Amino acid sequence: MDPTSKKRKKLVKTIRIDVDKCNGCRACEVICSSFHASPKYSSSNPERSRIRVIREPLRDIYVPVYAGEYTAAECSGRDKYTIDGKAYDECAFCRASCPSRSLFKEPDSGLPLKCDMCESDPPLEEPMCVQWCLNDALVYEEHEVEVEEEEGVEQGELELGLESLVDRHGLQKLMDTIARMKKKG
Ligand code: SF4
Ligand code: SF4
Repeated sequence: MDPTSKKRKKLVKTIRIDVDKCNGCRACEVICSSFHASPKYSSSNPERSRIRVIREPLRDIYVPVYAGEYTAAECSGRDKYTIDGKAYDECAFCRASCPSRSLFKEPDSGLPLKCDMCESDPPLEEPMCVQWCLNDALVYEEHEVEVEEEEGVEQGELELGLESLVDRHGLQKLMDTIARMKKKG
């Protein structure tokens, strides 16, 4: 082992999803979008939710999927799953906020959405979607692991949003716009 490497404890937060218990009620989508509205609870729009439920009642398919990483480019291949005889659409389980679909993008601005496990001050005992899932399809768990000290820092929501704007409009246009807004303000 490298004697110079530093270890630190990291809290791993997990939401265990039991698709057999999900009935597609979409309470998780409602509370997530409402909790993240600005001001908090001022509106509720599932399209702004960081969890979306794949719902196909006629085929008894209900699968909650959490918003994951932003990606500037779509992937070069697609997967198709059949589980317990049920076929799922391409991209069904993918968590990415990606240019090939509208999922996990803020509907007005197009900015990427990502689950933050409901970061809040004071901290929540459990993420909001877990609290609102009355069927126990979502179960919150946490445990500590030892990891190597990271050199970089995790991308915050602001950085993620700026990155997606740069990808869409180019850095120069973004900087010109900010300069123009600064002059006005
Ligand atoms: S609240 Fe629970 S049961 Fe309802 S759609 Fe979300 S995960 Fe499924
Ligand atoms: S954990 Fe919080 S941010 Fe993530 S989907 Fe659930 S309610 Fe939304």
